Amino acid sequence: PVPVLTIDGPSGSGKGTISRLVAEQLGWRLLDSGALYRAVGYAAGAEGLDLSDAEAVTRCAQSTKIRFQAPADGGDTRVIVNGHDATDELRTETAGAAASAIASIPSVRQALVDLQLGFRKSPGLVADGRDMGTVIFPDAPFKVFLTASAAERAKRRYKQLKEKGLNVTLGALQREIEARDERDASRTVAPLRPADDAVLVDTTGMPIDAVVAKVLAVVQP
Ligand code: C5P
Repeated sequence: PVPVLTIDGPSGSGKGTISRLVAEQLGWRLLDSGALYRAVGYAAGAEGLDLSDAEAVTRCAQSTKIRFQAPADGGDTRVIVNGHDATDELRTETAGAAASAIASIPSVRQALVDLQLGFRKSPGLVADGRDMGTVIFPDAPFKVFLTASAAERAKRRYKQLKEKGLNVTLGALQREIEARDERDASRTVAPLRPADDAVLVDTTGMPIDAVVAKVLAVVQP
C-alpha cells in the first residue's frame, strides 16, 4: 500500500508548516484536511445556512466542489471552493470557528471521507489534520501528534495572520483558539486525540527545522 504519514494536533501546533516541508522533502503528496472543513463552513455560510442545521450542512458538504491549486509562481496553494478562490477568506479565525462547528456533525465528516482517501497516491501522502491517524488512515505506517503550549500556539497563529495582513489581537486569538481546541477535543465524533501508535512531539520552543528533522526521522529512522 502507498505509505502515509499522519500529522495531527491542535491549531497552532505547527502542523501546516511542518506537513508542507516534510511533504516537500519526501516528494510526497499533501492533504490539508482542515482546509476541507474550512471550505465547507465557508460554502455553508455563503449559502446562508444555519451551521447547526445538520441536514442542510451535510448536503452542502456533499455538493461543495473543493480544489487545491498550486500557483505557477510557487506561492501558497490556493483553495478553490465552487469555482471561487477562497484562500484568503479561509485563513481567518472566523473560518476556523465555522469549520469547527460543522466538523462536529458526524454526517458532514462522513461526506468528506472518500475525498480524503483519494489523496493516498504514489509515492506517498502526508496527511495533516485532527483525525488522520485515528479515523481516516488508521493503518498509516507513520503517525505523529504535534503539540505546543497554548501560549505558543496563539503566538504562532498571531504571527501567521499578521503576516497575511489580518487584523487580530493576541489575547482574543488565544481565547478563540482555546475555545476551538476545547470543542474539537470534546466532540463525540473523531475527537482530537493522538492515535495510540502516534509519536508525540512537543514543539514548544523548537525551531521549525528541528521539528522537520524529528518528523522525518519517524519515516526514515
Ligand atoms: O487545521 P485547521 O485549523 O485548518 O482546521 C479547522 C477546523 O477543522 C478544526 O478546528 C477542526 O474542528 C476541523 N478539522 C477536523 N478534522 C480534521 C481537520 C480539521 O475536525 N481532520
